[in-house]
Amino acid sequence: MKKDSFYLPDGMIYLDGNSLGPMPLAAANRVQHTVVGEWKELLITGWNKAGWYHQPRVLGDRLAPLVGAKEGSVVIGDTLSIKVFQALAAALQLRPERNVILSDSGNFPTDLYIAEGLIKSFDRDHKLNLQLKVVEPEAVADHLDDSVAVMMLTQVDYRTGRLHDMAALTRKAQDNGAIALWDLAHSAGALPVHLADCNAEFAVGCTYKYLNAGPGAPAFIYVRPDIADTAEPALSGWMGHSEPFAFDRHYQAAPAIERMRIGTPPVLQMAALDAALDVWDDVSINDVRNKSIELSECFIKEVEKRCPQLTLYSPRDASQRGSQVSFTFDEGYAVIQALIAEGVVGDFRAPNVLRFGFTPLYLDIDDVVRAAEILGKIMTKQSWDQPAFKQRAAVT
Ligand SMILES: *Cc1c(COP(=O)(O)O)cnc(C)c1O
Repeated sequence: MKKDSFYLPDGMIYLDGNSLGPMPLAAANRVQHTVVGEWKELLITGWNKAGWYHQPRVLGDRLAPLVGAKEGSVVIGDTLSIKVFQALAAALQLRPERNVILSDSGNFPTDLYIAEGLIKSFDRDHKLNLQLKVVEPEAVADHLDDSVAVMMLTQVDYRTGRLHDMAALTRKAQDNGAIALWDLAHSAGALPVHLADCNAEFAVGCTYKYLNAGPGAPAFIYVRPDIADTAEPALSGWMGHSEPFAFDRHYQAAPAIERMRIGTPPVLQMAALDAALDVWDDVSINDVRNKSIELSECFIKEVEKRCPQLTLYSPRDASQRGSQVSFTFDEGYAVIQALIAEGVVGDFRAPNVLRFGFTPLYLDIDDVVRAAEILGKIMTKQSWDQPAFKQRAAVT
């Protein structure tokens, strides 16, 4: 759909856009311009003259339509782990009489670690009896009782690709008096999300996966507009103050989404994000979703035809999947290394998951068939079975 807008190394079939999207061609120039044309020349005046100060809001508004959010309800900054903390803290404060954070075992570890860390620091003396309850993904709805303060879920499971029904679960959570907090890390840019329509109170997500803004790109946070003025920002930094440059001794939260800013934003990374969002100007997320289903269905079919050793780990029904397909195999790590050596980049998640992301912006059917052929060859010849492919690197 937009293959010409991205750089991909010669001969590489990139099925890892669910971990780190490739570089939009415009990003290199945009970052270069921000460094040489702005930082170098404008120095401190760049905050005003180049508009750096307002970028978290400006880019939040550009990103908002991709997740079905209204203008003024999204702000960019920090990392996703920090945004999870911030949203969760604010959500808990909206339900002080309840004590359970409900999540599922398919959630990404950092989301669960952050919840545990938050409980430890908020509830040192255990007076609040705050608890993280982690249940099977299919059992979330059954555990939405009146102890649940916050239902904190990631819409697309990073390992299996299983897709939660965001609208239905949000409704159920709210019917039971809980706050809904969604992590859209594997949704934003991958499939249509209807944040405003589904009425969730909070959402967070990252911009370096399907949004292609580069390694370390900032995260985003959404707060439903009607509660944005009451949600308390637990990370009360000066950039979320109503008048940061009054240097007031006392914190006064800014109105609405602006209060979810914390400190100085990453200007160079935001330049890359700005360029990455240009790619979406003339792309419909519905078309992306349809094409992604076509690509992933094709991949499953071609892989199953060639690789009886692999077991499909993702839901077979495309409507129950995000934009990735996973298989399991005991020596999955070595298989992924063998694939990468042949120019097909997927990734591995412990203990035995081979993961492949499908991103129609820069992938087509030929790529997918070719990737399946190469995987088929590696499995048939067992060429993964070499010591070099079994050496674990720091990042898998
Ligand atoms: C990728 C991902 C993260 C990563 O958080 P960072 O702070 O950006 O490292 C967190 N949560 C989910 C669900 C993810 O998929």
